[in-house]
Amino acid sequence: MIADGRFDRHLRLPGWDQARLRAATIIVVGVGALGNAVAQALGLAGVGRLLLCDMDRIEASNLSRAPLFTGADIGRLKVEAARDGLARIAPDTVVDIRADRLEHGIGLAELRAASLVMGCLDSRAARLALAGRRGLAGAPWIDGATGPWSGEVRPYLAPEGPCYGCGLTPGERAADDALAQVRRGCGLPAEPDSAGATAPLSALVGNLMALLALRHVMGLDVPPDLLELDGATGRSVPVRQRRDPHCPYHHRLPAARPLSLGPDPSVGDLCAGLPADAVPLAWTPFQLAVACRRCGFRAERPGRVAAADCPRCGARLHPRTSLELDRAPQGAKLRTLGVPAAEILAVRRPAGLDYVELC
Ligand SMILES: [Zn+2]
Ligand SMILES: [Zn+2]
Repeated sequence: MIADGRFDRHLRLPGWDQARLRAATIIVVGVGALGNAVAQALGLAGVGRLLLCDMDRIEASNLSRAPLFTGADIGRLKVEAARDGLARIAPDTVVDIRADRLEHGIGLAELRAASLVMGCLDSRAARLALAGRRGLAGAPWIDGATGPWSGEVRPYLAPEGPCYGCGLTPGERAADDALAQVRRGCGLPAEPDSAGATAPLSALVGNLMALLALRHVMGLDVPPDLLELDGATGRSVPVRQRRDPHCPYHHRLPAARPLSLGPDPSVGDLCAGLPADAVPLAWTPFQLAVACRRCGFRAERPGRVAAADCPRCGARLHPRTSLELDRAPQGAKLRTLGVPAAEILAVRRPAGLDYVELC
């Protein structure tokens, strides 16, 4: 226990369990206004480890809603500045950071092992990406969103309960998914929702998310309903969520075989650990080569799909992509193909799919 009496008032709350909070790892996906409020509250409460994931850098417009950032942080990675801010207010919380997209920054085994995932994202496409990864890992998830004078807190805590995708129509899922894939294919980030928002609203939604998170981690009851907050009237309305049996985000990964590859493994390391007939599959396409449709330029360029122009004629290059990791050069690092550490990979075998957990 921390000796400075920092958590003395917590211990007077019925049901409070500081030791469980200290043992918890909570992943915060998105470190904008909402992620700031969530991480601040969880850090102050004494959560043992926070894992922050966000690829963006700080702009001046973030400062009015982000208590962990200062004016000197403009241009810095959000996750780095948030880690520094948390070090000031929550020195005993271990803060790990990933300046990347969720699917490249946090492995499925890490997601599965977390106590909780906090969705602090600003677009439906990003939430759907989280819904897919979280669904595979089966991790409990609390999602939050702010709108003009309003907000929503959505707990998805029960393994067999509803998820974010259940609340969308098949058309909404497909349209967003297709758009997200096109943007990724072009190397563009997901389109953020730039609706109006203000610090008190982000704090209201973020702190309610954090309160439910703490209760969940400590084993206390959390209501299953989605909560709609109306900042103009002060009202909150619980909305019953229903599981949609046709929602595509309910497929859980079966048990995976641990595959010990050491730090920063290559494609060759991975293939050496698998049977000869095995084809390891990435979850998101990676690039093998690029080609110019105007002048015919071609080059092997293994790595993550990224927008690039033709060095000969300046036209946009088209990537040739694959999910089959054994098609990449043996020396290519899995990391450079977008496969995070602690990832769980599907492996195609003649008899069906196997799963391996990289460790
Ligand atoms: Zn669902
Ligand atoms: Zn060209």
